[in-house]
Amino acid sequence: MLLRMSTLFLRTLREDPADAEVPSHKLLVRAGYVRRVAPGIYSWLPLGKIVLENITRVVREEMNRIGAQEVLFPALLPRDYYEATGRWTEYGDTLFRLKDRKGADYLLGPTHEEMFTDMVKGEYSSYKDYPVTLYQIQTKYRDEARPRAGILRGREFVMKDSYSFDLDDDGLKHSYETHREAYIRIFDRLGIDYRIVFAMSGAMGGSASEEFLAPCATGEDTFVACHNCGYAANAEAVVTPAPPAVTTGHPALEVLDTPDTPTIESLVNYVNEHHGLRITAADTLKNVVVKVRTPGSDKAETLIIGVPGDREVDFKRLEAAVSPGVPEIFEAEDFVRHPGLVRGYIGPQVLKSLGIRYLVDPRVVDGSAWVTGANEPGKHAAHVVAGRDFEADGTIEAADVRAGDSCPRCGHPLSIDRGIEIGHIFQLGRKYADAAGLDALGPDGKPIRITMGSYGVGVSRAVAVLAEQRHDELGLVWPREVAPADVHIVGTGKENQIDVATQLAEELESRGLRVLVDDRAGVSPGVKFKDSELLGLPTVLIVGRGLAQGVVELRDRVTGTKEEIPLAEALDRVLAACQA
Ligand code: ATP
Ligand code: MG
Repeated sequence: MLLRMSTLFLRTLREDPADAEVPSHKLLVRAGYVRRVAPGIYSWLPLGKIVLENITRVVREEMNRIGAQEVLFPALLPRDYYEATGRWTEYGDTLFRLKDRKGADYLLGPTHEEMFTDMVKGEYSSYKDYPVTLYQIQTKYRDEARPRAGILRGREFVMKDSYSFDLDDDGLKHSYETHREAYIRIFDRLGIDYRIVFAMSGAMGGSASEEFLAPCATGEDTFVACHNCGYAANAEAVVTPAPPAVTTGHPALEVLDTPDTPTIESLVNYVNEHHGLRITAADTLKNVVVKVRTPGSDKAETLIIGVPGDREVDFKRLEAAVSPGVPEIFEAEDFVRHPGLVRGYIGPQVLKSLGIRYLVDPRVVDGSAWVTGANEPGKHAAHVVAGRDFEADGTIEAADVRAGDSCPRCGHPLSIDRGIEIGHIFQLGRKYADAAGLDALGPDGKPIRITMGSYGVGVSRAVAVLAEQRHDELGLVWPREVAPADVHIVGTGKENQIDVATQLAEELESRGLRVLVDDRAGVSPGVKFKDSELLGLPTVLIVGRGLAQGVVELRDRVTGTKEEIPLAEALDRVLAACQA
């Protein structure tokens, strides 16, 4: 169907929306692709809907190609399924919960592992039925703590989620690899620049979980990459190599007067100057107090994290490390309730007797010596040896990760970048099958517990990611596969330019192109050019003043090239440009 600007339900905006911070959000709103309804909740206008459908089509084609079968679940779900796996509670504040008129609990599905497991259990019983992979392209709901950047992080969004069901681990690995290849094809076809990174610490040996991240300055995920061995991981999943420990020759613990040393820097300067030490921030042990709340309850456990003083606790790494617990700031009033904790001078020496859980960065190995708090105002302790003067309750990957840190695989310095998660593939194993009792009857009549994988693509997010990765100062620049049309034909002028533009549009459409024609009367050429740049279709044909001389102008939105061509060649040239 020919898209005509004269009747298209579209109003472009000259100004950026006030609430928009990132380019994709500004441009998608200004170009009339989406409109905001509430925080993290957006409507799709005609051009945006076409882009969304194009992405959906590519995802669907590639899922069908690997033999996954499409189903569709409701978004409105009763509590019981999620109660059985504990996720009704574990999901915490992110879950949209509601009640029906009888007072029964419901939720809006954030992801559908439980439902798929139950569906397979209802239909299949024999080992002969397996393997099977099912998927849906459906609206998800998450009450995100920080809805952000328009459709990039929505509270309502479109996801493709698929789930594989296999009889054994090899089957699961195969399903996982098949999905991985499908995702590579999907994101290649969509024209998204992406990296595949480990998503879980457990992934060091194999690839139990990987994310597809689109590198992007505005991304919320941080990932590291090693250009020597190819290791790449989400910062949340980076494993810190433990250094060798010096286990002998440490002097006895010594308490030092360190007045007025509230910061690591002031502490280092003070002890080097007044106590004859020669340390750097990395030799100090900083103890950060947090609370970890159990979702669904008011109970919060006090947790102290020990990290070398040259590092910060990275909140996202901490969140991942304590999940499903939720880390919270330890406030001044919490200190009042814990008089044993001397703010600014906490050392791990007393934590056992205070009954407070203490987890350390993996660099704090037994036998390593530190300068840390002495649990008295104005005092620190030197030669505090892990395993001798204190014992941690375990390690935690919560310290920040930095460019130049050693690759956990080969030791080379890591680079660090930001990205947006566009897909996630995950070998779930038997967690959900266990909860639902999903078994197949084996050839010997014995039950076989099914093993699962789950795989997600952020379909609506992909629209924003493309806008984020592909735009310039003038507007959007869509790859052809997802663009709302192949070609934008712009008729400008008072003579018969609009008629000729429309004829060309109809002819190109009949030859199989998807065409948008600017056939608006009484709109200035300047406005039309600006709109065409903003809308971002890959090929633009201008039918303007040159028409009197029999020439039109062919523009490539991607390269920015402009070329005058004879009208008689216009059809063939546009076809060639769009099929290139
Ligand atoms: P994130 O870390 O960005 O919150 P997630 O790990 O919670 O994502 P998954 O549960 O793995 O996401 O969901 C699968 C895919 O759905 C993600 O890879 C992402 O592309 C998309 N997605 C997740 N949350 C949102 C959201 N709030 N808005 C848009 N897309 C989302
Ligand atoms: Mg994820």
